[in-house]
Amino acid sequence: MSRIAFIGLGNMGGPMAQNLLKAGFELAVFDLVPAAVQSLVDSGAASAASAEQCVQNAEVVISMLPASRHVEGLYLGSEGLLAKIAPGTLVIECSTIAPESARKVAAAAEQAAIRMIDAPVSGGTGGAVAGTLTFIVGGKADDLAAAMPYLEKMGKNIFHAGDSGAGQVAKICNNMLLGILMAGTSEALALGAANGLDPKVLSDIIAKSSGRNWATELYNPWPGVMPDVPASKNYAGGFGVDLMLKDLGLAAEAALHAGASTPLGELARNLYSLHSAGGSGGLDFSSIVKLYERKK
Ligand code: NAD
Repeated sequence: MSRIAFIGLGNMGGPMAQNLLKAGFELAVFDLVPAAVQSLVDSGAASAASAEQCVQNAEVVISMLPASRHVEGLYLGSEGLLAKIAPGTLVIECSTIAPESARKVAAAAEQAAIRMIDAPVSGGTGGAVAGTLTFIVGGKADDLAAAMPYLEKMGKNIFHAGDSGAGQVAKICNNMLLGILMAGTSEALALGAANGLDPKVLSDIIAKSSGRNWATELYNPWPGVMPDVPASKNYAGGFGVDLMLKDLGLAAEAALHAGASTPLGELARNLYSLHSAGGSGGLDFSSIVKLYERKK
């Protein structure tokens, strides 16, 4: 079994690494937060004191970090991992970052004879735990083929979107739509509740009607409507408001870059920005429903 270095063990990386361990791979893990490392060590992973130590003797490196600056900081420069990883190593970069950032790091990897794909994911923390994530891959087809044995242990649907950075473009389009749908779902549920409907009854109706979407089926934003979703746990865990705000910012940049119009994406970005500025940046993004709360 290959030795895997896994870096970034947050809400997504933690359960993804757990699934690789369950599949029998040998893992070394690193995160800046010691408690995140400990829970993987308790399950049988080897802990590393630094990212550099983590990648020693690794045949595969997987990273799952918040944003472009973290990924560029990890891999680039004379102290970056690309200067430490052995040629021929396969790097699977799963964070959602700017396409240009993914292309920049992939080009530097190619210079160092390191194989790299961008493989952002969709499916939320539930999908990460269940091993049913969707991987949206940019890079060379043979590098994706080499990554398959690992991706298949963490996900169910694996798409090749195109060359380096293409995985990120597709992921950004998906998340712009997700941000819009979550805000729209919140608005509809709040409208129903303000007019005397039970949000659970309204959710059941929408889930079987033409307004249904991922939020009404799997990730309802109204507290108590679904068990085991962030809305029923005070919006803890899940996908942070500030991470959604980052993705809507990436969508806005991509629109500017291509001269495309994204009026609903921009509106959603402003809603999440207001929500974050009100002190909710660390909550799950479904807490956007709180913007519609009616104070008694
Ligand atoms: P998170 O904030 O829970 O986890 C990120 C982890 O990276 C943290 O534990 C942090 O300590 C660690 N980290 C940051 N810099 C590091 C470094 N230099 N070295 C080692 N560790 C470092 O975020 P998350 O929710 O797991 O999201 C990770 C990525 O996945 C983001 O790009 C996000 O947009 C994307 N994503 C998240 C979800 C979701 O539902 N949470 C779904 C799809 C995609």
